[in-house]
Amino acid sequence: MSKAVFQIAVIRGDGIGTDVTDAALAVVETVCRRIGGFKLRYDKLDAGAAYFLETGLDIAPGAEKSAGSADAIFLGAIGLPNVRHQDGTEISPHLRLREQYQLYAGVRPVKAYPNTPQCLADARAADIDLIVLRESTEGLFYSAAIHQRSVVTDDQEICETLRISRSVTEKLHDFAFKLARKRKARGGKGLVTCVDKANVFRSMAFFRKIFDERARHFPDIDTGYSYVDAQALDLVRKPWDFDVLVMENMFGDILSDLAGGLVGGMGMASCAEIGDQHGLFQPAHGSAPDILGQDLANPLAAVLSAALMLEYLGDRSGVQALTDAASLIESAVEYGFTAKRIRPKELGGDQGTKALTRALQKLIHEKQPS
Ligand code: ATP
Repeated sequence: MSKAVFQIAVIRGDGIGTDVTDAALAVVETVCRRIGGFKLRYDKLDAGAAYFLETGLDIAPGAEKSAGSADAIFLGAIGLPNVRHQDGTEISPHLRLREQYQLYAGVRPVKAYPNTPQCLADARAADIDLIVLRESTEGLFYSAAIHQRSVVTDDQEICETLRISRSVTEKLHDFAFKLARKRKARGGKGLVTCVDKANVFRSMAFFRKIFDERARHFPDIDTGYSYVDAQALDLVRKPWDFDVLVMENMFGDILSDLAGGLVGGMGMASCAEIGDQHGLFQPAHGSAPDILGQDLANPLAAVLSAALMLEYLGDRSGVQALTDAASLIESAVEYGFTAKRIRPKELGGDQGTKALTRALQKLIHEKQPS
C-alpha cells in the first residue's frame, strides 16, 4: 500500500448497523476533507439477516472476495434475533470473514471519557484506558458452531477443543507488545499483561511460555501476568492499573464486555479485527433491533472504529494524513465530552444519532489537527 487512495469494503448490515455506519462514514468524510492527503473509495456490499430474508443468502455473491481485496473492511452490525438458519444459528457471514482472512488480533479499546456516567465510584475510574486484545481465530472458539468441529456422541456428550497454536500466538503477543509500545509513545504505561489459566491448562501454560519468549524482544515494555478469574476481579477493583491485556478468544469475549461495561454502554465499544493482510473494523455492539429507527443509536462505537481503521491504513501505508485523521477524530470525541458538546442519549444526554454526528462534524471543523 503506497498510495493515497484506499478502497473500503462497507457492509452496513442490519438494524442500527446501517445508521451507525452512515454516521461513521459521514464523520470520516468530514475529517478527510479537513485534513486532505488521502481519499477513500467505498464499495458497498450486501450482507446480513435482512439480505438473507430477501435472497436466501447471507452475503452477496462475490462480496467475500471483494472484501478481501479491499484495503480495509468496515462493518455496521449483522444479525437479527428472529432471522435464523434452519439449525437455529443467527446469520453471521462476518464470522467467516474473520476466519477466512485470519483476523487473529481483536482490539477492544476501553476508555473512560470525561462527563460520562462511570460504573465505579472510585475517582480513579476516570483514568481507565486499556485495551483488551482478544485472539479471534482459535482458542475455545476453535470448535464454535460455524466450524462444526465439536465431537458429538449421540445425546450423551459433546467435546469441544481449545486450540492454541505457536504461529498465531507468537503473532498475537508481538501485536500486543507493539501496541503497548505505540501507546507508550503517546504517554501510555508500556505494560502488557498476559491473561490465562496457566496454573490449570497445558494450553495456557504454552500461551504464557510464548508470551515470555516474545517479551524478550521488547525490553522497553513491562510485563504482567494474571489468571483470568483474578483478572475479572481486578478489572472491577483497579482497572486503571492496566494497559494492554492479551488473552485467548473466549476469555477476551467475556472480559471485553466486562471492561466495556465499566465505561458506558455498548454504543462506546469500538473494535478492530486485524490479521497480517487484512483488517475489519466494526462497533462491538449488535444490530440492537429494540432501538431501530428511533434515532437512538449512539454512533460513537462505529466512529471510533472508523478512527481505528484510519490509523491502521496509516500504519500500513505510511501516509501520515491518515494517522492525523484518526487522531483528529479521537481528540474531537475527547474534547466533545470534556466541553459537554457530545451528549449521547444512550448515556443520559439529549443527542440522538443524527444530532451527535452533526456535533462531532462541527468539532472536527473547528479543531486543529494535533
Ligand atoms: P448481539 O447478540 O449481536 O450482541 P444484540 O442486539 O443482542 O446483538 P447489542 O446490540 O450488542 O445486542 O446490545 C444490547 C443492547 O444494548 C441493545 O439491545 C441496545 O438497547 C443497546 N445498544 C447496543 N448498541 C447501542 C448503541 N450503539 N447505542 C445505544 N444503545 C445500544
